[in-house]
Amino acid sequence: MDNRTLSRRDLAVLWHPCTQMHDHEELPPIPIRRAQGVWLEDYDGRRYIDAISSWWVNLFGHANARINAAVAAQLDRLEHVILAGFTHEPIIELSERLVALAPRGLARCFYADSGSAAIEIALKMSFHYWRNRSEPRRTRFLCLTNSYHGETLGALSVGDVPLYKETYEPLLLKPVRVPSPDCYFREPGESYEDYARRAFAHMEEALAAHARETCAVIVEPLVQCAGSMRMYDPLYLKLLREACDRHDVHLIADEIAVGFGRTGTMFACEQAGIRPDFLCLGKGLTGGYLPLSVCLTTEDVYQAFYAEYAALKAFLHSHSYTGNPLACAAANATLDIFRDDDVIARNRVLADRMATALAPLTDHPHIAEVRQTGMIAAIEMVRKKPREGYPWQERRGRNVYRYALEHGALLRPLGDVVYFMPPYVIAPEQIDQLGAIAREGINRATAG
Ligand SMILES: *Cc1c(COP(=O)(O)O)cnc(C)c1O
Repeated sequence: MDNRTLSRRDLAVLWHPCTQMHDHEELPPIPIRRAQGVWLEDYDGRRYIDAISSWWVNLFGHANARINAAVAAQLDRLEHVILAGFTHEPIIELSERLVALAPRGLARCFYADSGSAAIEIALKMSFHYWRNRSEPRRTRFLCLTNSYHGETLGALSVGDVPLYKETYEPLLLKPVRVPSPDCYFREPGESYEDYARRAFAHMEEALAAHARETCAVIVEPLVQCAGSMRMYDPLYLKLLREACDRHDVHLIADEIAVGFGRTGTMFACEQAGIRPDFLCLGKGLTGGYLPLSVCLTTEDVYQAFYAEYAALKAFLHSHSYTGNPLACAAANATLDIFRDDDVIARNRVLADRMATALAPLTDHPHIAEVRQTGMIAAIEMVRKKPREGYPWQERRGRNVYRYALEHGALLRPLGDVVYFMPPYVIAPEQIDQLGAIAREGINRATAG
């Protein structure tokens, strides 16, 4: 088998996610034969550093020996069982560990199979909580501009990336959108913290106007990843927690992308010292092995549903593969690695290396900003500083994508924002290599 044969067969029968399939006429999909650590290898024997962790899911490399062994051992015991009325050891262990790791007070785990499904659960649970508490007027959600929470209709409703959302607008819930604390828009000389405080005035205003019809505020803590890796200060989360308490509305933290060490702490909320009412996790939860997500919530929320059956207060949401044991085994092995390997401290060294590798780009005439939060680094290309973007039709980011592929790296820019979000097993020299590829790719993409 070779790349060409497989991509031809692929294009005859597949329809790929987040893709205008016509683009494949010039750049066919790349079939991957195997992967090891940060490396992907195709059928022509070319290798690529997976600089985006295969859409932000992979934490400890492909074919990780410890996770492989855990999944294989689980496979011999129990591949799957219905989670209603039944349970199993891997999910009990995982739940105990998540409750112990998450901000104190998140005491209950409700599982699903994708990040979007975890968001749907948080939205439905919050809404249902208020009904069970005899506050049926609460039907709305507050969300931030430039946010992303997934692609199913509920999750899409509380997101704000027009490219994914606009077409479906007539089908969606109508949340209250509040301007994001995205620090890209701070004034020259203004600190992240000052900007967060200034941006928070909008949230305060929205809560004052809408709190009594609002179920919850939903945010991506610290980094709006799909929204071009835009970043903000933890102070915003602290102010938000305080305001949600004051106005008596729930806070949903979507840590599907930023959880599990991405931002420099196990969970991003830790940097603000806050506990949300709902914490949604997915992506890295299984180390990038199998689809699994979870919505953690408080005992207070749980108790609002706990009653005699006839009270009809139960949360009857379900998915066929909820809590799949193989996925839970992968998740437990992933948490073992966090426990045994001092991952957060090691990531600090890798994050410093990323900063060093990207520092030379700061003065580039077509780079508006190089920003970083922990193991996420992003470079924003512009036609003209400070913030005049390229016309989207020019698709400059795509040229970086293509250049990187030709030079042994999978970089997949979001529009004109090139970013690194590598597996934590990346070697310092590989970060330097990615830096060099990104620099040259950007030089070419911004020339002329
Ligand atoms: C990816 C993502 C989701 C959706 O997760 P899926 O598993 O793709 O459904 C939700 N929220 C955030 C912040 C994400 O990055």
